[in-house]
Amino acid sequence: MKAIHFTGWGVAGLADLREPELEPGHALVRVMASGLCHTDIDVLYGRYGNGAFPLVPGHEYAGIVEAVAEDVTDWRPGDRVAIDPNIPCGKCRSCRKGLTNLCETLEAYGVSRNGGFAEYSTVKTGHLHATGNLPFHMAALAEPLACVLNGLGNARASSAENALVFGAGPIGLLMALSLKAQGVEDVSVADINESRLTFAQSLGLTPLRSGSSDLAHLKKSFDFVADATGIAQVVEDMIAYTADGGTALVFGVSAPDARIQIAPFEIFRRQISLVGSHSLNRNIPEALAILQRDNGMMARLVSHRLPLADVLPYLSKGTATPQTMKVQFSTE
Ligand SMILES: [Zn+2]
Ligand SMILES: [Zn+2]
Repeated sequence: MKAIHFTGWGVAGLADLREPELEPGHALVRVMASGLCHTDIDVLYGRYGNGAFPLVPGHEYAGIVEAVAEDVTDWRPGDRVAIDPNIPCGKCRSCRKGLTNLCETLEAYGVSRNGGFAEYSTVKTGHLHATGNLPFHMAALAEPLACVLNGLGNARASSAENALVFGAGPIGLLMALSLKAQGVEDVSVADINESRLTFAQSLGLTPLRSGSSDLAHLKKSFDFVADATGIAQVVEDMIAYTADGGTALVFGVSAPDARIQIAPFEIFRRQISLVGSHSLNRNIPEALAILQRDNGMMARLVSHRLPLADVLPYLSKGTATPQTMKVQFSTE
């Protein structure tokens, strides 16, 4: 089978691999759609996961069950599924508290085990979620959406009257649309790129150009502010836009050695909640339910549906343009 194969630090290619063998408790999934994520690039350069190669990347995928192991009774060939990539240990302190996304030895399909950038993937059946009639490119959004929902849940964002998301890339926009789906009507998105802001506006979001006076006039104006850029300076600045009693969410992936300066007095005096969030926590079903209700806006975040060979260049810098939103391997 064809697959994107990471064979060493920074080395990615297209490979012809043996079809994976079915082990007990597993299903063989024919991958129909698989999304590219910045994490895939981090995995390729050993900044995320255990840095062990070779590996088939891809942790945002959906497909059709092709075959199941003999001992599997609850899934059958033809079932349409989305995959929860996280493989927590179930025993460590975080897992015992229900925070499986913070498992001390967290593994994941596409990160530390072969994932979705291949024609086939074997997955333990506990990681399969039925997607009903959802188109596959939408079902493959369930994983990033579950990450977004985990962040919004930690920040209790659905109680906000208004919200501001920094970063109009696919994840920032997915977060902005999720806020709307959760009943926050007034959602703004800030970015430096005009074409991304125009696109955000077409999705029903209020565009704000970073560095503009329009934005500068909105200090202390938002109940909920999130960073989806991973730029430390943006994280530092977002506190200023958070209303008294509001919440700021660190969602973007900053460099591990990046630092910010915050005035503790401001956090105290204005009763600001500063919240973090990592990955998803068994909430793919919640994401699938939102995708089923989507009015077509989340679907528009998938900008590229490509064969495996054409996904490969997007692992290198300079291929994506501001118009590039979610890039997916697609067989349709
Ligand atoms: Zn991801
Ligand atoms: Zn654990």
